[in-house]
Amino acid sequence: MALDQKSAPNDLSAFWMPFTANRQFKKTPRMFVSADGMFYKTGDGREVLDGTAGLWCCNAGHNQPKIVEAIRQQAGELDYAPAFQMGHPKAFELATRLCDMAPEPFEHAFFTNSGSESVETALKIALAYHRARGEGSRTRLIGRERGYHGVNFGGISVGGIVNNRRHFGTLLAGVDHLPATHLPEKNAFTRGQPEHGAELAEDLERIVALHGAETIAAVIVEPMAGSTGVLLPPKGYLERLREICTKHGILLIFDEVITGFGRLGSSFAAEHFGVMPDLITCAKGLTNGVIPMGAVLATAEIHDAFMQGPEHMIELFHGYTYSGNPIASAAGLATLETYREQGLFERAAELAPYWEEGLHSLRGLPHVIDIRNMGLIGAVELSPIAGAPTKRAFQAFLDCYEKGVLIRTTGDIIAMSPPLIIEKPHIDQLFGTLADVLKTLE
Ligand code: PMP
Repeated sequence: MALDQKSAPNDLSAFWMPFTANRQFKKTPRMFVSADGMFYKTGDGREVLDGTAGLWCCNAGHNQPKIVEAIRQQAGELDYAPAFQMGHPKAFELATRLCDMAPEPFEHAFFTNSGSESVETALKIALAYHRARGEGSRTRLIGRERGYHGVNFGGISVGGIVNNRRHFGTLLAGVDHLPATHLPEKNAFTRGQPEHGAELAEDLERIVALHGAETIAAVIVEPMAGSTGVLLPPKGYLERLREICTKHGILLIFDEVITGFGRLGSSFAAEHFGVMPDLITCAKGLTNGVIPMGAVLATAEIHDAFMQGPEHMIELFHGYTYSGNPIASAAGLATLETYREQGLFERAAELAPYWEEGLHSLRGLPHVIDIRNMGLIGAVELSPIAGAPTKRAFQAFLDCYEKGVLIRTTGDIIAMSPPLIIEKPHIDQLFGTLADVLKTLE
C-alpha cells in the first residue's frame, strides 16, 4: 500500500482500537479533531459537549492554557531523563505537591504511566511490604466482584468483570473476591450513599476464616466503582472494611483512578468518605488526561518498611522507563496548580446538588430502572432489551452523540462525569438531551 494512501485519514484499518467493536466502528466512525473547555469538535465541524471528561480524566476541561504551556516549555527544556539512579527536579516537585494535596498519611508517591500500572505497582508494593517485614506468607490478594482495576494481569485477576477475565487463561493464583455492593432491589434511586449493604464487608471475615489472616496481603477496592456503572459504597461499608483489614494486618488499597482529583468534591475519595487506606492508586486526572501518568501514594509506614537494608541496595525492584517522565511531571504540576487556582474541587462540591437534581429528574422516563450519583458523577441504568443486553444504552450513546452530547455506557448503564469546569447550562443541556433521547428509545 502506498504511504500516502496508508496515512490518509479515511484508512482506518491499521489502528486496532482498544475496547471497541472495531468492525462496527469502522463502518460509521466517530472522530474528534479538537477540543476546548467543555466541548469536543468533530471532523465534520459539530460541537459535542463532553459529558464524561474524556474517559473520566479531563477534570479541568480541555485546552487549559497553563497545562498546554507547561508541556511546550518542558519539551524544549528537558524532554526525557532516566528515572533509574538519576533524577530531574520536576518529578520530585510533583511528588511533593501530590502528597501535599492528598490526605495526611500519604507522604510518598511512586510514578507510573497509567491506572493499570498503578494497580500492578500497588499490588506488588503490598506483597513486598509484608515480605520486608518478615511476613512473606501474606501472598493472597482480595478484590471485589464488579471491580475494575485496569487490564494488566494483576488488575484483571483482582477485578470482577467477566469479559475482561474469561479470555486470558488462569490469571494470578491466590485471589479471592468480595461480593459487589450493588443491591438494586433495596437501594434503587438512592441519592448519594445507599443505606443498605454495609454488612457485605463482613464477607472479608469469611475469607480470613477460610484462608487464615497470615496468608492475606491486601484488599483492593474502588471506594466508588466507576467503570462498572457508578456503584456507591453503602453507608458504613468502607469503615467496616478498614476495621477488618486493620484487625488482621491486611493492607487496604483504594483504587482512586476515577475518584481522585475532585470527582467527588474533594482531593480523593478517602478524604470524602473519611476512611484512610494504606495505598492509593491514581492516574487520569493527575495530568488532566493530557499526558499518560499515574501514581501510587503510600503512607510513611509502608514506605519506611522498605528503607531498612544497606543504603547502597535498591529498595523496591520495580519501575518503568517513563516513571516520572519530565513532560508528564510538568503536565502534572500545571494540572494540580490549575485545580487549585480555579478551585475546581470546591466547585464540584458546590455544583453537586444541582447535578443531583438534574440527574434524578430523569426518573420516570422510559426504561429507567435506577439512578445513582455522588459529586459530579452519575449513572442512569436502563432495563435491557430482552436477548440484546447493552443495545439500548448503546443506542442512547449514539443518539446523544448525534445530538451533540458525549455520554458513556457500560452494559445497560449510562455514566456521566463531566469536567469540573462545567456550568449549570451545560448540566441542563446534558440531562435535557438525555431526556429527549430516552423518550424516543426502543
Ligand atoms: N482502575 C480504575 C478504578 C479505573 O477506572 C481505570 C480506568 N478506567 C483503571 C484502573 C485503568 O486505568 P488505565 O486505563 O489508565 O490503565
